[in-house]
Amino acid sequence: MHFEVVTVVPETVEGYLGASILGRAAEAGTVSFGVTPMRDFGEGKHRQVDDSPYGGGSGMVMKPGPVVDAIEAARAAAPAGERVRVLLMSPAGTPFDRAVAGRLAADCDRLVLVCGRYEGIDARVEDHVDELVSVGDFVLTGGELAALVVVDAVSRLVPGVLGNDASAAEESFEGPLLEYPQYTRPRNFRGHAVPDILLSGDHAKVDRWRLDQAVRRTIERRPDLLGDRATLPEEISELLETLDSAPNSK
Ligand code: SAM
Repeated sequence: MHFEVVTVVPETVEGYLGASILGRAAEAGTVSFGVTPMRDFGEGKHRQVDDSPYGGGSGMVMKPGPVVDAIEAARAAAPAGERVRVLLMSPAGTPFDRAVAGRLAADCDRLVLVCGRYEGIDARVEDHVDELVSVGDFVLTGGELAALVVVDAVSRLVPGVLGNDASAAEESFEGPLLEYPQYTRPRNFRGHAVPDILLSGDHAKVDRWRLDQAVRRTIERRPDLLGDRATLPEEISELLETLDSAPNSK
């Protein structure tokens, strides 16, 4: 899968994409990353990409010409037959979550992520993208961090990007539960000991304990994830019933 970030500030994304798990995945050829500098499509001798807003108001708005030219160049760079999707990062977009990440990972070979800056982008650019995506109900100074959130979350769903794909299947949001608590050495940390069961060597008991902990955590922290209880897997419903009948143990 290829990710192309279209931005006026390439240096804000290059370091992240070249480091750690994503950098290694790119080196191995499991994914690839590119950055399209929007300034290359700027107008006039100063390569202008922004202008003052029609109707007045503070700040600058990104001009449609350079943004759409950059989008078209990014689309044109795709090899024939690739499934390309152009995302415009915007607070007014579809809220990004695990389901959206999964859909993009499954349905696309190439994601083009367009980053706004300043007061935003001329509204007519929306006619030239496939989807608007928001990473939360807050405003960032630019779309680059939002694009990195999407690239990172989608990349780790691409087979081979994570060292151990099996561990991803147990993570938060893969099902209706948050992940169970994790521990590593030392066994005692500032008076807080690792639960004995994790040292028992009994894998079935450990699995049972982890599921129990995941259910408890989800009830405490994100009960909204459990949704309609009638649709939950039986082992989760059974645990919920046990906890319901002993509320003080939650
Ligand atoms: N004036 C705009 C508004 O009120 O909706 C905000 C513009 S913001 C300062 C500049 C750029 O950052 C946006 O064009 C968008 O690309 C990006 N951005 C800001 N917040 C975002 C969010 N929550 N999700 C995705 N992109 C965001």
